[in-house]
Amino acid sequence: MLNPTRVRQNSITLLKMLLGFSLSFGQEPDYASLRQQMVSEQLEGRDIYSRSTLEAMKAVPRHLFVPKAQRPFAYVDGPLPIGHKQTISQPYIVAFMTQALRLKKTDKVLEVGTGSGYQAAVLAKIVDSVFTIEIVEPLGLQAKKRLAQLGYNTVTVRVGDGYHGWPEKAPFDAIMVTAGAESLPQPLVDQLAEGARMVIPIGPHGGIRQLVLVQKKKGKIKTTELMSVRFVPFTRKN
Ligand code: SAH
Repeated sequence: MLNPTRVRQNSITLLKMLLGFSLSFGQEPDYASLRQQMVSEQLEGRDIYSRSTLEAMKAVPRHLFVPKAQRPFAYVDGPLPIGHKQTISQPYIVAFMTQALRLKKTDKVLEVGTGSGYQAAVLAKIVDSVFTIEIVEPLGLQAKKRLAQLGYNTVTVRVGDGYHGWPEKAPFDAIMVTAGAESLPQPLVDQLAEGARMVIPIGPHGGIRQLVLVQKKKGKIKTTELMSVRFVPFTRKN
């Protein structure tokens, strides 16, 4: 025989379950914990030890730099599409390149390849001033707007070909190129200050490149290969 009290209780439980389901369905993921988890597993769990790099990676809301549809995946261990055939690098690569620059707070940094603006925001958490150049105009304009809205007012974005660097703002204490080049652009080498560092992926388009650390010491250039990487190509305006 059916027990009416039992039936009512069961339907209340069912209702609660449905409500719970629909609430959790509409809810945004807990991005702060996903970010913390990304830092401890993907960065500290590997070879990222620089305190300032780890703090910056903990602070910058990566999910706000990717297209809405990509947000739930913002903290996964890989690159993501940001439109215009470009990608935002894997969190580990962002951290590795940042750490390799051995930044001081007072450093003036140039980034070539603004993309979403995420890497520039990470740099801005560490140093006083960041200059960044993007060749794809809509990406550059969007990053500029996004960085301003999120309060990164020490980042200056410019649309143009980063091959030429930013002579009016040179020399730089550090330069980061986030697109894969086939060779080392001389204007960028020329814009390194004494003692400055540059990281740049170099190698054939479409293939595996080497992430190279370039150091200027007593006017001389020393290059060191750090690791193999894949990057979207460094392009040139014709
Ligand atoms: N640092 C970015 C991701 C970079 S993807 C981020 O954090 O999101 C590489 C970017 O470099 C792309 O947006 C691409 O358009 C740009 N790029 C390629 N060649 C360039 C050049 N010559 N000058 C400036 N930007 C360039």
